[in-house]
Amino acid sequence: MDETRKKGKVYLVGAGPGRIDLITVRGLELLKSADCVIYDKLANPALLSYARPDAELIASPKRAGPESLTQQQINKLIVEKANEGKSVVRLKGGDPYIFGRGTEEAVVLTEAGIDFEPVPGVTAALAASCYAGVALTDRNLASDVMFVTGHEADGKEQTSIDWKLLAQFQGTIVFYMGIGNLDFIANQLIENGRPKDTPAAVIANASMPGQRTTKATLGTIAQSCARNHIEPPALIFVGPTAAGDTRLEWLSKMPLFGKTIVITRDAEGNAQSSAKVSDRMAVPIEMTVTKIRTFTDSNVFVKTLARINSFDWIILTSPNGVETFFEAIGKLGKDARVFGSAQVAALGARTAETLTQSGIKADFVPKSFTSKDLAKGLMDFANLQGRKILLMRSQLASEELPGLLQEAGAVVDDVPIYTHEKNLCDVKQLTEMLNEKRIDWITFASPFAVTCFFEQIPVEAVKLSNVKIASVGPVTSKRLRESGVKIDVEASEHTIDGMLSAMEAF
Ligand code: SAH
Repeated sequence: MDETRKKGKVYLVGAGPGRIDLITVRGLELLKSADCVIYDKLANPALLSYARPDAELIASPKRAGPESLTQQQINKLIVEKANEGKSVVRLKGGDPYIFGRGTEEAVVLTEAGIDFEPVPGVTAALAASCYAGVALTDRNLASDVMFVTGHEADGKEQTSIDWKLLAQFQGTIVFYMGIGNLDFIANQLIENGRPKDTPAAVIANASMPGQRTTKATLGTIAQSCARNHIEPPALIFVGPTAAGDTRLEWLSKMPLFGKTIVITRDAEGNAQSSAKVSDRMAVPIEMTVTKIRTFTDSNVFVKTLARINSFDWIILTSPNGVETFFEAIGKLGKDARVFGSAQVAALGARTAETLTQSGIKADFVPKSFTSKDLAKGLMDFANLQGRKILLMRSQLASEELPGLLQEAGAVVDDVPIYTHEKNLCDVKQLTEMLNEKRIDWITFASPFAVTCFFEQIPVEAVKLSNVKIASVGPVTSKRLRESGVKIDVEASEHTIDGMLSAMEAF
């Protein structure tokens, strides 16, 4: 072997139970720098967005079935990738050593002479306990806890589970991988002497917006789960604490918990909104009804750029505008210094924040979010008489702002640097979900999104589904009304967070 070649290493990283920010800091750091990520079915795929853009991403197993990799193939693969000199993150759901076969992989690596490091993760039982309000231990009710597999290795002839011992255990028993065997598990415990009325709970999708808890007794839990169509991944809790304590239930009290919310922006906007929706433990559905087209190669923009340091004020009104501008000047090898001595105003805190990331601290940011506030605020802040102002914004922006600034005596150049266009999206799934009344909210963050959405989804489909409609502000609401849609909530703070808070208060 070439002695100078970089030596590979494999990190067996616990991804945590589902919610992406429950991974450890160490796990995330390693994921961010890995050359290769081999990820499990149970690891949340959203974590992969943290991997380097050039990292090799390999799913294992893809899905139960002929396409999936066997454990032997996975073992071979991690050895192979490490031998290529790569830093490999083997990303596993929960904790790598709890029913995760992490130790088997570690042994294979040692035998192949490859360095490894396990990174612990929050195992599903810990997340289910905290998120569903079912304690694992309790000073009065349960002094001990046991994690048991509900599905033993295929081909094993004799069970290694001592059902007699389990039936006598007075603490909390948590079964992993047991949903398919729920009936059998409950019966074994009862047949071995555990009373039928022992509390039992099944917690599916712990820590995710789709989390569901079913509480019953050993005698009735299998039936309850069948009735509620509970599907894996799920855990079975058995013992006195499984009865739960309603005072510990915090997740189900979150107003948007488990609600399905459609968001209707451009791809980047949807990704940002999606994260905000997930933070509130709701399920986002992204409909990318618009896309951005930039005008930064237009003559007007290029000419404006050539004399940009002749302006007294430069006004940017959206994060999109800021990003489009700096991307364009970046391509020309320029940076924030092109602004020269001009003062800069930003509409909205997020626009100001995006400016800061490009090295500009805005001189003026109005407290509220409309063009009117910006114009009025700026007039109070500075004398605009005879001042040269450059507005760089969306082609779809209203005439109000330049009008008001001109009235104050300013000379205004209004340069469109981007616009939104309609983006055709696949509406089949959404239409089905609307028909089946499985959507709780549709949200609109601009009048143009309203137009593009209803050009693709008939108003009738929305009306018949009884879905609730949220609007970011009055201009968007006006377009919704013109489209014949009734609005349930209009945000008083015209941001995505403002809209979600208004929905929570509904
Ligand atoms: N290493 C993982 C467990 C892998 S075994 C860990 O430490 O959590 C797979 C089993 O874990 C599933 O069958 C299910 O019982 C449980 N599980 C994993 N994620 C879960 C989740 N979000 N909610 C409930 N159970 C989960």
